[in-house]
Amino acid sequence: MKHINTKCVQAGYDPKSGEARVLPIYQSTTFKYEDAKTLGDLFDFNASGHFYTRLSNPTVEAVEKKIAALEGGVGAMLCSSGQGATTATILTLCKAGDHLVSSSSIYGGSFNLLNITLRKMGIDTTFVSPDATEEELRAAIRPNTKLLFGESVANPALSVLDIEKWAKIAHENSMPLVVDNTFPTPINCRPFEWGADIIIHSTSKYMDGHAMALGGCVVDSGKFDWKESSRHADFCAPDESYHGLQYPEKFGAAAFIAKARAQMMRDIGMMMSPMNAFLLNVGLETLHLRMPAHCANAKVVAAHLMNHPKINWVNFPELADNKYNELAKKYMPNGTCGVISFGIKGGREAAAKFMESVKMAAPVIHVADARTCILHPASTTHRQLSDQQLIDCGVTPDLIRMSVGIEHIDDIIADIDEALENC
Ligand SMILES: *Cc1c(COP(=O)(O)O)cnc(C)c1O
Repeated sequence: MKHINTKCVQAGYDPKSGEARVLPIYQSTTFKYEDAKTLGDLFDFNASGHFYTRLSNPTVEAVEKKIAALEGGVGAMLCSSGQGATTATILTLCKAGDHLVSSSSIYGGSFNLLNITLRKMGIDTTFVSPDATEEELRAAIRPNTKLLFGESVANPALSVLDIEKWAKIAHENSMPLVVDNTFPTPINCRPFEWGADIIIHSTSKYMDGHAMALGGCVVDSGKFDWKESSRHADFCAPDESYHGLQYPEKFGAAAFIAKARAQMMRDIGMMMSPMNAFLLNVGLETLHLRMPAHCANAKVVAAHLMNHPKINWVNFPELADNKYNELAKKYMPNGTCGVISFGIKGGREAAAKFMESVKMAAPVIHVADARTCILHPASTTHRQLSDQQLIDCGVTPDLIRMSVGIEHIDDIIADIDEALENC
């Protein structure tokens, strides 16, 4: 299987003669064995098989294999949400007293996780601009820094991360680069090919693609050399909770994903349910068809709004005058994603009026599914903030975020134009 389109449809599940053609839902918490020895071997990682769905399940495992194949990694772990995937990743690499450096242009939930919740647990974050120079990145690194973190295309700012530059600084300092690749998906961006070591997804977005099932995924490139890293002695130390197991010794290239599962999934339990893995797999089967359709529609909408007399500005990395256009062309030559943002003349009031006036595009909090949807943060998610506070966090009062769906482009444009007539 060479092509990503084929992997979307086929990877991860290969039924034997007489077995179900479609990936079955193994709706079972537990798995039967004939003798205690086999079960003991499974517990000690001396045999492979499933025994309890918190740690592994055949439906979930098939979809993990598919996503690992799509990203080009050695293994993947599905989680109950994108937030779960980010938490599992950071807690596998950091303990109280450790530190990480993150792009400041990240999803609000991830920002809160790093800025509030992980700080309470003693894990400190320095935020730097996604456009930080090599010197600025180096200056943010401390002796206890364990990783660099950023989003390939940030939600909602739509900044594009210079993955190669960030990977270079991470590796120079013997630490991994973790990239959240939710918005472009592996169809449009392949962070491992540019040096990223670990990829995170909120599968709730384009991967599921239908807004049916929350989910997250962690993918391991298998390329980071934990034993060579002066900063990750902890990572290689014997695990007391597995009678002295050493992950790089036991699992080789897949040490990170094995440790994430053996420790974080075992102890915290943010696993994906078999039912949600089944739904996610249905979404993944058409990811290669949906992503180009989202991108093509978003490009037309962005160009249309650029020329509209009632629009102040449009933010979409694929526009020639966008600050991130060069990086977008380098890392995502076939397109970025279907999310754009724009400002309406008339500020907060006109934007609120627009949101009330669209008919097909539904106002929802979600992004990145088949249906076009919009959000005016100043009158919804950010309504407690003053105009100045909004500007300080990069959300202007006139900002509308639009997740362009895969309906016919003429219907999307007609809906926007009719709504703008009311503004
Ligand atoms: C939505 C999102 C998340 C969080 O994912 P959930 O599945 O909602 O927990 C993380 N990162 C990005 C870029 C997202 O868009």
